[in-house]
Amino acid sequence: MGKKAIVMGAGGFIGGHLVNRLKKEGYWVRGVDLKRNEFGNDSADDFVVGDLRDPRFCDFVVEQGIDEVYQLAADMGGAGYIFTGEHDADVMRNSVLCNVNTLEACKNNRVDKIFYSSSACIYPLYNQLDPDNPKCAEDSAYPAAPDSEYGWEKLFSERLYLSYQRNYGIKVRIARFHNIFGPQGTWTGGKEKAPAAMCRKVAEARDGSQIEVWGDGLQTRSFLYISECLEAVRKLVESDFSGPVNIGSEEMIAINDFAKMAIEISGKKLTIKNIQGPTGVRGRNSDNHLLREKIGWAPTQPLKKGMIETYQWISSQVSEASKKTVPVS
Ligand code: NAD
Repeated sequence: MGKKAIVMGAGGFIGGHLVNRLKKEGYWVRGVDLKRNEFGNDSADDFVVGDLRDPRFCDFVVEQGIDEVYQLAADMGGAGYIFTGEHDADVMRNSVLCNVNTLEACKNNRVDKIFYSSSACIYPLYNQLDPDNPKCAEDSAYPAAPDSEYGWEKLFSERLYLSYQRNYGIKVRIARFHNIFGPQGTWTGGKEKAPAAMCRKVAEARDGSQIEVWGDGLQTRSFLYISECLEAVRKLVESDFSGPVNIGSEEMIAINDFAKMAIEISGKKLTIKNIQGPTGVRGRNSDNHLLREKIGWAPTQPLKKGMIETYQWISSQVSEASKKTVPVS
C-alpha cells in the first residue's frame, strides 16, 4: 500500500503543488487549510477545512497510520505583509500555534516523519548588508539577528521541531526556502510576493507606461521555481538528513534586472520607477553547498524559464479579472 501524508497549508501556493506532487508519487493525501486552494491545485484524496491554531482540530486531522506530515501552514505574505510591522503579532502568534499544535498531534498519533518549511528570513541582517555578497550558509544563522518577526518565529520553530526530534524521537526534516515562485500562487491582494507582484504590474501596465518597483532596485535576491523546490523537498524527506538546509536558487539578480526580465518576457515597452517601499535585506542568495553534500542534488533551471511560465499564468489571470470588472457608465 502507498504511504499516507498530510499537507498542512494545502490551500496555499506550495502546499497545493505539493499535494499534486505526492499524488503523482502514489501517496494517499489529506490536505488541511483554513480554505480550499483557490487556483484548483486540489487533487487531495481528502481535504479538511479548519484552523490549526485549535489543538483539538489538529488532533482530529492527524490520526494514527499517517506516515508523513508536511507542515507548510503559516501566516505569511510578501514584503508588504511581513516587513511593515503591522502584522507582527498575528504572524508570530498564528504560525507558532500551528507549529506547536501540529507537533503535539504528531507526537500523540505516532507520525513517523514531519517536514517543516522554514525560511531564508532567519538569516542575520548583519550578513546581508552587501547586495553583491550576502552570506546565507546554514551555519551562519547564529548569532541570530533576523530582520523580521516572521524570521524570528521561523527560527524558534526550527528549534521546536528539533527539540521534538531529540525528546520524542519524531523524525524531522527542515528546509529554509528562498523565494519560491511559479503559477497558481497569490498574485494580488497584498500577500503576493515579488515575482508575482512584478508579473502582475507588468501584465496590467499599458505599453509605453511605467511600473513601480520598491526600493532603489539594487537589492538582490534569488528565486526558485516551484517544481525544483518540490524535488528538493522530496529528496530531503527521503534522505537521512534533518537539516535545516537551504532550498533555493543560486542565480542572484538585482530587483531592477528582475523587473526588466518580466518586461522583456511581456514584449511591452515599459520603464521602471523606483519608489519607497518595504524591501527587507539588501542582498540574499541561496548557498547550496550543504544541500549538494547531503542530498546530492541542487536546482539548475534558469530563472527566466520559470518566469516565462509564471508571467503567462498571471497575465491570463489579469485578463480574466479585467473581464469580470463591470465598466462604470
Ligand atoms: P501560502 O500563504 O500560499 O500558504 C500558506 C497556507 O497556510 C495558506 O493557504 C493559509 O490559509 C494556511 N494557513 C495559515 N494559517 C492557518 C491556520 N491557522 N490553519 C490552517 N491553515 C492555515 O504560502 P506559501 O508560499 O505556499 O508558503 C508555504 C510555507 O513555506 C510557509 O510556511 C512559508 O512561511 C514557507 N516559505 C515560503 C516561501 C515562499 O517563497 N513562498 C519562502 C520561505 C518560506
